[in-house]
This record gives sequence, C-alpha cells and structure tokens, in this order.
Amino acid sequence: MAEPHVNSYYAATVNDRTRYPQLQGSLKADVCVIGGGFSGINTAITMAERGRSVVLLEANRIGWGASGRNGGQMIYGFSGEGNLKAQLGADATRLIRDLRYRGHDIIESRIKTHAIACDLKYGWMEVAARAKHMTGLREHYAEMVEDGHGDHWELVEREALPKYLGASAYHGAMIDRRSGHLHPLNLVMGEAAAAASLGVKVFEDSPVIELEGGAKPFVRTAAGRVEADSIVLAGSTEHQFQRGPLFGLTFPTGSYIICTEPLSEELANQLMPQDLAVADSNIVLDYYRLTADRRMLFGGRCNYSNRDPSSLTATMQPRLVEIFPQLANTRIDFEWGGRIDIVLNRIPAIGRLEPNVYFTQGYCGHGVNFSHIAAEVLSDAICGTTEKFDLFERIHHMRLPIGRWAGNQLLALGMLYYRLRDLL
Ligand SMILES: Cc1cc2nc3c(=O)[nH]c(=O)nc-3n(C[C@H](O)[C@H](O)[C@H](O)COP(=O)(O)OP(=O)(O)OC[C@H]3O[C@@H](n4cnc5c(N)ncnc54)[C@H](O)[C@@H]3O)c2cc1C
Repeated sequence: MAEPHVNSYYAATVNDRTRYPQLQGSLKADVCVIGGGFSGINTAITMAERGRSVVLLEANRIGWGASGRNGGQMIYGFSGEGNLKAQLGADATRLIRDLRYRGHDIIESRIKTHAIACDLKYGWMEVAARAKHMTGLREHYAEMVEDGHGDHWELVEREALPKYLGASAYHGAMIDRRSGHLHPLNLVMGEAAAAASLGVKVFEDSPVIELEGGAKPFVRTAAGRVEADSIVLAGSTEHQFQRGPLFGLTFPTGSYIICTEPLSEELANQLMPQDLAVADSNIVLDYYRLTADRRMLFGGRCNYSNRDPSSLTATMQPRLVEIFPQLANTRIDFEWGGRIDIVLNRIPAIGRLEPNVYFTQGYCGHGVNFSHIAAEVLSDAICGTTEKFDLFERIHHMRLPIGRWAGNQLLALGMLYYRLRDLL
C-alpha cells in the first residue's frame, strides 16, 4: 500500500492531488524509470521529449521522497566539487562550469513550458557562521566573479548584513541572485503532470521488487512487469538495488524541518527583508527561508544518532529561536523529516550497474538543482552522448562495504565530528 506524502507544509498546500494508477500487467517500453522524484520524473520527461516510450514506477506517491519534502533551496553547483577537481583536474573545472546552473535552466523551462505554479523566487545567501569562514566565502566569490558571474553575485561584509537578514549570529555572507527557492512538491507534481502529458506512463503504488539485467532487462512489481531497452534507477536512498558499484557507496542520513505559522508582513520583512533562501557555512548546517505565505521554514539536523527524534519541534525550535529570538512565541504548525543520500567523498554517483541499467543518486542534500542535471546527463548517455556521463563514471568513490546499519553508525560519528569542528 502506497505511503502518503509526509505531513508537511508542502503536502498541505499542494496544487495538484492527482493519483496515478498502480501498474497491473505487462508493458514494454524504451525506458523504464524507477522512482518518482525529480531525478526520475525529469529523466522521463527528457526521454519522452526525444521520442522514447517511457514507463515510470513510483513505490508510493509522486514526490514522496526527498523531492517532495526538502528545504526548497535551488542552489547552483553540486556537492563534492573540491574532490571532483582533485580527481579530474581541468575536466572537472570544465564540467562544473558547464553544469553549475544547468538545473536552474531546466527548472525554469519546465515551469514556463508547463505553467507550473511553485512559488519560485530568486536570491540565495550563504552566511558565515564563524568569522574564519569569511575567508572561504571571499575566495569563492572571487572565483565566481572570475568565471563571469559577477553580475549576479554579491559579497556582504558583516556591517551590511542587516540589509539582508534580521539575525545577528553571522559574520558576513555571499549572495547568488540566480539561485533561489521554491515549493518542491508543487514542482515535482507539476513535472509529473508534464511527463504524463508527453505520453509517459506514470504509476504510483508500484514498488519495484525485482530487477533483472542482461540483453532484455526487466523489472517486476507486485502486480506487473516492465521490459525495457534501458532501466534507470532513480530511487535515491530507498531503492533496494544497492549492489555492484552501489554497494557500500551511499548512506542515508536524516534532515529535518519545522515550519511556523504565517508571520505578519512586518515581522517577515524584519527577519528576511529580501526574502532570500539562507544556508549557513557549517558542514552540519542550518537552512531556512520564508514560504509564499510568510512562514519561516527552518531546516537542519537535530541529532547525531541517525535516529529520528520523537519531537522535532522540541529539538529544533530552540535553534530557530537562537537565530531569531523574535520567533520565541511563534507557533510551529508543521514538522517533518526526510533522508539525505550521503556519499563519502560527497560527489554525486552517476553510473551503471550493467550496460543498460543506469543509476543516479547521492546528491548529499544538494539535489534540487542537481537532480535535474543528472536527469539530462543520464538521458544524453542513453541516447548515445556520453561525454559528461563518462566523467562521472570515471570518479573514484570511496566505499564502506560494511552494510547500511554499520555504515550509518559510522556516518553518525562522522557528523558528530563535523559538528564539533563547526563549533571550534
Ligand atoms: C529534509 C531534506 C531537505 C533537503 N533540502 C534541500 C534543499 O533545500 N536544496 C537541495 O538542493 N536539496 C535538498 N535536499 C536534497 C534533495 O531533496 C534530494 O537530493 C533530491 O530531491 C533527490 O531527488 P531524487 O529524485 O533523486 O530522489 P527522491 O526524491 O528521494 O525520489 C526517489 C523516489 O523513488 C521511489 N522509490 C524508491 N525505491 C523504489 C522502488 N523500488 N520502486 C519504485 N519507486 C521507488 C521513492 O519512493 C521516492 O519517491 C533535501 C533533502 C531532505 C531529505
């Protein structure tokens, strides 16, 4: 039985409540995509736009996973860029330059072409949580200006911060006016409707329980079977096929969000005068923004045990109030969490289990933009243009072949280490 969307601000304000059918019986397609999040849906759209027949299978509801419950921050680039450059040198520099805003382009084009209402607003800011973090922000700002992005990047010294943010905890910031924030569940539901309108056969409540490779690969669900020339695993942390190059590669970790009642216009302007999305510079970071109806949507990690806490509000509200004392008496209306797919070297994992069975996952909490990029890289590879895909396949990933439980304990320890480092 399909799990419903998590009880979030997004589920409460979703525009499109379409239920897609369950797969019954056998189908054949050029491409079968497993997973109805941004990665899967966008692969399906791109392949359908290129004339391929596509079946998409989602275990629960479209947008049930991280895509329908994230912080909604559309951030340039992707995780692990430093490690990517260390491994691939000039090839990585070129790849990052080519791709860093590609997801934004795709999202904008989906919104425009398919009239998707998802509250997209521009402006994203990284704030320095420690005085010493300003060095890194200044260097990164200089790099972005050198790469030609000076017209939409700003560096903000501490004394100028009140113009952008009503919080005194920070030491300065950098702003990217080309990144921003949006309602992710409305985006992914809109994209699913777009896929269906292009002829993609979309199924919910259809978990894939068996995957068979070979010359004629196929997948099986409880009530159906799909045979396809290519299969794409886009199930992120949840899919059951962590084998071959995926074994010991990615580890899910919790990230959590609380969301307040709507703030008065005056208070919202005081806290977020420019309505930017904000993330701090810690590795174990806080991220927050206003929703379209002026709620403070505040996310982060709230423990280091890798187990969900019994009350998110009790553990996260004190942190929210530490940043914004003005919200001490503000009601919390929603709390929810989700799983972030962490790769040890933080570089997203794009590759294949077999010549015609592809995978993409491991965006390390930086997937709104990157899932759209990955979908295009995979679609290009399936259609025979493998230049970017080959670079991702060349990456050497660290693996911990110790199973998920033990890996998660190690990850929890690692997060604690980084939290202590953030505090020092
Ligand atoms: C709380 C939270 C906050 C975040 N905040 C941000 C943010 O602000 N900005 C940002 O860039 N990124 C953020 N992220 C990360 C981002 O949301 C993800 O990287 C991205 O959504 C991953 O998309 P996806 O399509 O690959 O996976 P998902 O969206 O997780 O989709 C995978 C889908 O596959 C389905 N599935 C799994 N197994 C099977 C199977 N066997 N058969 C059929 N279907 C299956 C699942 O049910 C799920 O719906 C956040 C993540 C979380 C959890």
